[in-house]
Amino acid sequence: MDKISVIVPCYNEQEAIPIFYSEITKTAKKLSQAELEVIFINDGSKDSSLAEMKKLAKADSRIKYLSFSRNFGKEAAMYAGLTYADGDYVAIMDVDLQDPPSLLPEMYRIITEETYDCVATRRVTRKGEPPIRSFFARRFYAMMHRLSKTEIVDGARDYRLMTRQFVQELLRLGEYNRFSKGLFGWVGFETKWLEYENVERSAGETKWSFWKLLIYSIDGIVGFSTAPLAIAAFLGVFFCLVAFLALCFIIVRTLLFGDPVSGWPSMTCIIIFIGGIQLFCIGILGEYLAKTYMETKRRPIFICKETNMEKTAEEKE
Ligand code: UDP
Ligand code: MG
Repeated sequence: MDKISVIVPCYNEQEAIPIFYSEITKTAKKLSQAELEVIFINDGSKDSSLAEMKKLAKADSRIKYLSFSRNFGKEAAMYAGLTYADGDYVAIMDVDLQDPPSLLPEMYRIITEETYDCVATRRVTRKGEPPIRSFFARRFYAMMHRLSKTEIVDGARDYRLMTRQFVQELLRLGEYNRFSKGLFGWVGFETKWLEYENVERSAGETKWSFWKLLIYSIDGIVGFSTAPLAIAAFLGVFFCLVAFLALCFIIVRTLLFGDPVSGWPSMTCIIIFIGGIQLFCIGILGEYLAKTYMETKRRPIFICKETNMEKTAEEKE
C-alpha cells in the first residue's frame, strides 16, 4: 500500500488544527488504496499549537509533529517537512483549509493512473482577498513571467502532491533563500494543474502582512532572475547616451547663441533624478549581494527543537 505524507506548516494555528484534523481524517477514509501520514510543522508558534499537535499525535499514530526553535517562515517549514517525510508520495497543505483536503483523492488518482510526477493546484479566483493585494499579486506574476525563464504560474498554491523522485530532486536544491513556487517549476517534470475557486480561511487570521508579501516577492525575483541587474546596466548606458546628446546640444547652442547663465532649477532636477537612478541601481546590486552573503554563510534552513519522528539520514551522521 502506498503511503502519502502530508506536510502541514502551522504558525499560531491553535483554532485551525482540530478543524483540519477532522477534515483530513474524512479524506483518509476516502483514500482506500493509500495510507496517510500527517506531518505538522510547528513554525515557532506562540500559542498552544504544539500542544494541539501533541494531543492529536497521542491519540492517532498517523500524526507526526516537528517543532522549530523559533519562527523560520513557511518556506523553511515546507523544506523541513520534505526532509522528514518518507512517504511514496508527498503533499503540502495549509492548515487553514484554503487548500481543500477533498481534492487529495483526485490528485492521488491522477498521479498513480496517469504519467504525471506532480499534481499541483491553482486558484482561478481570488474572492475574499483584499482587492489591492490581488492587484499586486497579479502584477507580480506578470512581471515574473517576463523576467524569469522558470515557469511560475499565477494563482499557483503550494498545495501539491509529488512523487518520491520529484521530492528527492527538490531536496537537492538546498538554498537558504527559498521561493518554492519557483523551485517547483525549476526542477521540471510533468505537472498537472487542478483549478479551484478560492476558499476562505477556516479559522484564525492570515499570517502574511502586505509587507511580508512584498519582501517575499522580492525574494522570488532575485532568486529566479538576474534581469534586474541587466536593467541597471541598461539604464547606465541609456543615461550615458542622453548625457552625450545633451552635451552636443549645449556645445552647439553656446557656439551659436553665446552663454547666458540660466536654467539652474532644471539642472538641480536632473542631478537629483540621476542620483536617484544611481541609488536605485546600487540597491539592486545590494539585493543580489545580500542574498549571496546569506547563501555563503550556509546556515541551516531550520532548527528542530523536538519531534516524534525518526531523524533523517543526514542528521544521524
Ligand atoms: N505559516 C507558517 N509560518 C509563517 C507564516 C505562515 O508556517 O511564518 C503557515 C500558516 O500556518 C498556514 C500557511 O503557512 O498554514 C499559509 O499561511 P496563511 O494562511 O496565513 O497565508 P494565506 O493563505 O493568507 O496566503
Ligand atoms: Mg491561508
